[in-house]
Amino acid sequence: SGFGESAPFEAPFYSAETTDSALAMLTRWLAPRVVGRSFRDIAHLNEVLGEGIRGNHFARAGIETAVWDLLARRNGISLHELIRHQLGQLGVPAEYRESRPYFESGVALGIPPGQDLALLRAWAEQSLKEGYHRVKIKVKPGWDTVPTRAVREVIGAHFPFWVDANAAYRLEEHYPALKALDGYGLLFVEQPLHHDDLLDHAELARRLTTPICIDESLKDARVGRQALAVGAASVWNIKIQRVGGLYEACRLYKLGVENGVRIWGGTMPESGIGGAAMMALASFEGFAEPADIEPSARWYGPGRDLLEMEMDRQGRIRVPTDPGLGLPISEENFRHYCELVYEQ
Ligand code: MG
Repeated sequence: SGFGESAPFEAPFYSAETTDSALAMLTRWLAPRVVGRSFRDIAHLNEVLGEGIRGNHFARAGIETAVWDLLARRNGISLHELIRHQLGQLGVPAEYRESRPYFESGVALGIPPGQDLALLRAWAEQSLKEGYHRVKIKVKPGWDTVPTRAVREVIGAHFPFWVDANAAYRLEEHYPALKALDGYGLLFVEQPLHHDDLLDHAELARRLTTPICIDESLKDARVGRQALAVGAASVWNIKIQRVGGLYEACRLYKLGVENGVRIWGGTMPESGIGGAAMMALASFEGFAEPADIEPSARWYGPGRDLLEMEMDRQGRIRVPTDPGLGLPISEENFRHYCELVYEQ
């Protein structure tokens, strides 16, 4: 057996998929394609999962990453080592197949209730104390320069910091507010414009001194090539869920490192099972910025996640080295959450 997770939001505001749509895709279309079948390799698995099925990347990622876990366990190696092997097969340059035994974690701070600036400052201060290696905050029109300035004051002029707009801005309408972000020493601005856009991002990249990062727009390696061609972004957020699995994430990684893109690992609000797949990927040398992976305790409370991800006081998370996902899955918590779902 292998474990994987499909982690869309409950509502379709980040991607077109939802938890309901992913469940339907998995049970009706995707699971029947893999149960009882064998595959030549991961590339073959991805071919089969993608044949005649458009989109639905989150649903796909659930099954795809489960097969990676299964393969790694069967071979007695960690998911991290299996990724290294796959990167070699894809022809990723040797220096980018090197990895660290841990990766650095960054915190993502949402928009506080009532846009409470004092609360945001307190969150930022707490994040520093907990050892996070960078702070990112969510911004939107009307909530951008003021919170950005406030957090900058708290964390100091040089602490790694960026903002994520989740596609909330329109280029011409909001250009002055976007241009104003140039004043805060941000590492980059994440996905400022439409969730499917490349051309306006390219135009914005020409006009701002702050680099542009794409998240939502970067749907797969094909889009990655187009983004490079038009100069849409010099920074990429690679998310396993959004791109449909680890294989596509590895292809994007190769494309990025070979073209001088700064890469970092993003996550969804997911359990440790989903997080473990990104944990296995985020410590390779090409990942230049701290990952979005946060310890389980932040979202679940201690001991409540399906698979416990722990951060040390230096804000680092160790890459598991045991076979497969490399950390035990809590059967008790697994049963608990299953019961919650079936009660509904
Ligand atoms: Mg984002």
